[in-house]
Amino acid sequence: MSDIDKLWQMQKHTSNYLAIKRAIKELTNKNNIKKISSELKELEKELEELKNNIDKNEKLLIKNNLMLKDYDYRLKKVEKSLYEENITDLKQLSFLDKERKDILKEIEEKETEILFTMDETDRLKKQLEEKKKNTNKIRASYNDAVKEYKSTIEELNKKASQEAREIKKIASTIDEKLYHQFSKLVNTKGSAVVEVIDNRCSGCNMVLPWVLVSKLRESDEIVTCENCQRILYLSRDIRNGNNE
Ligand SMILES: [Zn+2]
Repeated sequence: MSDIDKLWQMQKHTSNYLAIKRAIKELTNKNNIKKISSELKELEKELEELKNNIDKNEKLLIKNNLMLKDYDYRLKKVEKSLYEENITDLKQLSFLDKERKDILKEIEEKETEILFTMDETDRLKKQLEEKKKNTNKIRASYNDAVKEYKSTIEELNKKASQEAREIKKIASTIDEKLYHQFSKLVNTKGSAVVEVIDNRCSGCNMVLPWVLVSKLRESDEIVTCENCQRILYLSRDIRNGNNE
């Protein structure tokens, strides 16, 4: 294979390689993994908050039930004094009666509070279940997205390595100076070897002098575009005169 054909092959692999790298970059930038991830974090925070509130309510219920027991105990004590001790002192009786009424009022209030807390806890628990379901759904889609993203990137990286290997293989068979010229053009202009189409350099679209085209047609010499310095490649079909 002549140098120009090798360079042309190397250009093809380089273009492929660069396109794959661009695709990887694009995928990394616009994938929705980050978005789902922050959504998931938000939901997990909400779940934690709900659990804390339920916990707080349950502790409050325990505390209030203990208080209720204490009121019951005090009520029984007062009622026992009132009804069983045959107290005749009116002052004492009215005091005990007032105490009884106060305790009953406190019991009623505590029971209302307990009922309210129970309702509230039930509501929070239902909310927690809903949110858990939603979170699991989003977590599943997150895992899917990560899996798909990883396998796509892996596939693309594999292809990029294949192209890189091909480039290296060809590069090892050409002159070092030529390779240097090639990579310098790739680095500065994005491409090193461009095809001549309709007597124009397809790198910069300049019409090429007839002398240059005929040189390309008749020899395997490395010819560069005078305008953009890229290496010119004339398709083998045209070089063989099939296009005449
Ligand atoms: Zn050019």
